[in-house]
Amino acid sequence: MKDKITVTGMTCAACSATVENVINKMEGVSASVNLTTEALTFEILDSSKYSVSDIEKAVQDIGYGTTKKSDNPSKQDDYISTKERKSKELKQYRNNFIYSALFSIPLIYISMGYMLGFILPTFLTPEFSPSNFALVQLLLTIPVLIIGKQFYIVGYKALYNFHPNMDSLVALGTSVAFVYGVFSMFLIGAGENNYLHNLYFESAAVIITLILLGKYLENRAKSKTSVAIEKLLNLVPDKARVFRDGELKEIELDKVVVGDLIVVKPGEKIPVDAVISKGNTSIDESMITGEPIPVDKTKGDNVIGGSINTNGSLQIVATKVGDDTMLAQIVKLVEDAQGDKAPIARMADVISLYFVPIVIAISLMSGLIWWMVGAESSFIISIMISVLIIACPCALGLATPTAIMVGTGRGASLGILVKSAESLEIAHKADVIVLDKTGTITEGKPIVSDVFGDDISEILLLAASVEMHSEHPLAKAIIDKSNEMRLKTLSVDNFINKPGLGVECYIDGSKIAIGNNRLIESIEISNRYKSDFEVITSQGRTPVWVIKNDEIIGLIAISDSIKADSKEAISRLQELGLDVIMLTGDNEKSANNIASQLNIKKVIAEVLPDEKDKVISNLQAEGKSVIFVGDGINDAPALTRANVGMAIGNGTDIAIESADFVLMSSNILDVVKAIKLSKATIKNIKQNLAWAFVYNIIGIPFAAGVIYAFGGTLLNPMIAGVAMSLSSVSVVSNALRLRFFN
Ligand code: ADP
Ligand code: MG
Repeated sequence: MKDKITVTGMTCAACSATVENVINKMEGVSASVNLTTEALTFEILDSSKYSVSDIEKAVQDIGYGTTKKSDNPSKQDDYISTKERKSKELKQYRNNFIYSALFSIPLIYISMGYMLGFILPTFLTPEFSPSNFALVQLLLTIPVLIIGKQFYIVGYKALYNFHPNMDSLVALGTSVAFVYGVFSMFLIGAGENNYLHNLYFESAAVIITLILLGKYLENRAKSKTSVAIEKLLNLVPDKARVFRDGELKEIELDKVVVGDLIVVKPGEKIPVDAVISKGNTSIDESMITGEPIPVDKTKGDNVIGGSINTNGSLQIVATKVGDDTMLAQIVKLVEDAQGDKAPIARMADVISLYFVPIVIAISLMSGLIWWMVGAESSFIISIMISVLIIACPCALGLATPTAIMVGTGRGASLGILVKSAESLEIAHKADVIVLDKTGTITEGKPIVSDVFGDDISEILLLAASVEMHSEHPLAKAIIDKSNEMRLKTLSVDNFINKPGLGVECYIDGSKIAIGNNRLIESIEISNRYKSDFEVITSQGRTPVWVIKNDEIIGLIAISDSIKADSKEAISRLQELGLDVIMLTGDNEKSANNIASQLNIKKVIAEVLPDEKDKVISNLQAEGKSVIFVGDGINDAPALTRANVGMAIGNGTDIAIESADFVLMSSNILDVVKAIKLSKATIKNIKQNLAWAFVYNIIGIPFAAGVIYAFGGTLLNPMIAGVAMSLSSVSVVSNALRLRFFN
């Protein structure tokens, strides 16, 4: 079983990579840490060795905090407590920045302003009072270091444990500056006034101040990445009006139980998943399914908690409450996906783990080299600080998880639920898309359009009597037709369902079979029906034979209209470079006709339900990466088999289980949108990674003085601080652009 705890105090990719690494090293434990959501997801394979508290202890031992994801309270509570903690943290970051700026600004004025000709009182000028000049700077720096004490506590602890992280770099860099400043101050006291311009106190203070500012901006941006879940949680009302003890009472939502009779007035939100027991109305489900047009509902229809009852007064009976509701499931699904790691993040993780020690090494090496070529001590110090500060891999760590978080969140608000970050990544580079015909390309609501034979009533009577026992959409069409003709049904014996073929049974001792060509293989089709059969199939309608005692007594033509958007969706999929294939258990000719109307070049028809996944694995054997889209009725194995399975039309429970993407609306254009979302998210991740890399790779030689050695400019440690803070802020801001994906 997978478990989850929240890890606090992680500031960069080196932190998350370290925690992940340490936990994974525990025997029989596999773990994954997400920096953006602060979630540590782990699985203890051998519970005799470790328990959850061992894991927590291990995390605390390397210097981070843990908070348990609460056991029972509803999702909302859990969410609100995290939210409160985050907003407190955010306020803390802001205050820390403001206070440290209050000290840093006069410090800059004194140390740098003076050189630029700003006026200082005589008791502070380096010429007349060199010791005061240095001492005041020291006194202004100390409070800033105290405000930023977290960097030193966490950073040195991590360094001491041989798991240096970004805080270690900041701590080292600013400590070097500070210690060098104190050292210079003593030399100044001893009369060596040439140290006056190399105090570096202001570097230490300004770097801390800027990084605090960067953290504040980064966290402020990060707090916007979870708006999608917030919106979903806000869909349900806090209270519901329920009949209890014979009277109508308003009670808290979490007190509602299955079976409660609830009253919902026009304009109100449906509080829980329920079935209508009285009234009819039109329900706006757009928030959940993305389907813009309200759906008419009446007694016996299901309603989803969080949808809006537009115009009718309703009485509904609760069918699912609490964590079982569709909305709660969606929230859980989205949360899991947001905390999930895309394969593309793995490389960044590995790099982060080694990056910090390498940076420390580069810093020492460049110091050493400059010392060997005889550079001044203050120059060497400046180089070493700049390298430590600019090379923080924080942008690298944020690049992937932030984009995944925003991308999946945006998907959820469009009715596209992504179940794993991995499938989001795979979808963007798929080669083939296989679309199930019934329910995906067509409406999946077939109707009987013609009946051929001598006695239409008898044909329908027998057919409907058998189909009464089948769940197939075609069965429903036949039953509807017989109801319309007010036919009664007969009782049947020995009913057999033959998946992908049809149904069989006995009525009054006669063997009745209903189904397709493959079901009646041994029976010869008489000339009488041949031309009807041709007409039906060439129009894309489905032929269903009615057989009595091994003789054809009729032919039923069933039509299922193509969804209005199918044509456009398919041409857009083709534009995206995907090879579109239609898969169906239906008659080949009918299928070909539908395919040709939609410009689909490849059709695989007359496939038995249990062969559908075989079709997918055959394509995979050719080296193709396959997306399969189905409505879930007998498609679960194919959904699982495909590289990416997409369940369309608020699928069945099984479909949601088996699919990687769940498309809440039955609009096939959402398939296009899902693939585009995948492309947009991966593109965003690549931009972020490129930015983070380029920035570090270009930054380091600048900071190390390589460019300077060839006559270029040298990076001031404070500029390194600005650059580093900006890089994480810009990565998070770039990821936030995905909120506007459409
Ligand atoms: P699809 O790929 O369209 O979902 P299925 O595998 O469910 O198709 O069914 C394939 C074919 O099997 C149908 O087109 C129909 O010819 C036949 N069939 C299956 N079940 C029935 C039934 N209950 N009544 C009549 N025909 C059926
Ligand atoms: Mg089907």
